Amino acid sequence: MTNTIIVGGFEPLTTIDYPGSLSCVVFTQGCPWRCRYCHNHDLIPADKKTEFDWAKVIEFIKGRKGLLDAVVFSGGEPCLQSGLVDAIKQVKSLGFKIGLHTGGAYPHKLRQCLNYVDWVGFDIKHLPLNYEQVTQTPKSADKAWESLDILLNSGVDYQLRITKHPELISDDQLYRLKKLMKEQYNSKLEVQTCETKSCLDKELTML
Ligand code: SF4
Repeated sequence: MTNTIIVGGFEPLTTIDYPGSLSCVVFTQGCPWRCRYCHNHDLIPADKKTEFDWAKVIEFIKGRKGLLDAVVFSGGEPCLQSGLVDAIKQVKSLGFKIGLHTGGAYPHKLRQCLNYVDWVGFDIKHLPLNYEQVTQTPKSADKAWESLDILLNSGVDYQLRITKHPELISDDQLYRLKKLMKEQYNSKLEVQTCETKSCLDKELTML
């Protein structure tokens, strides 16, 4: 019997979540981190009851063969799901490319997924020493950097990105982080604008 995943949200059509591909996005429920800027915080509690059912989502996906290029697993933190690898294999067997959005909280699970994933959007939260100022979670930088090493040694296509909230990272820190990514990993860091209308930390909310 295969494990399943807890789905907290579903976007049936998007052009921006997998570069260059028409995709749908499966948002998984649950995340071990508490990023202060998080605007998807309904997806943080792992035990929250949801209105979605993976069996129905996969039926929908089957009906999109030939219409969509890719299915993206996002969150929350997808790698929290015990059934993620099975779900990815299920979708892959239908002929879709697989995208994965992750912050790298579970290096071992990421390593397993990379056998089947075609592209990863990897979220960097801050400079290593400042990680907990964003995630509010001890050792999050250790996990993230271990995952980053696994990803960059895997040969799987990827994008590194950071969500910039002006209260959490200064221009100088961002410059140093970009430099680190370039010099240590030969990688570019994309900067995403922060959605500030409903941050987990209400003090960061800006309308
Ligand atoms: S922004 Fe942070 S807390 Fe929110 S889902 Fe992503 S990793 Fe989890």
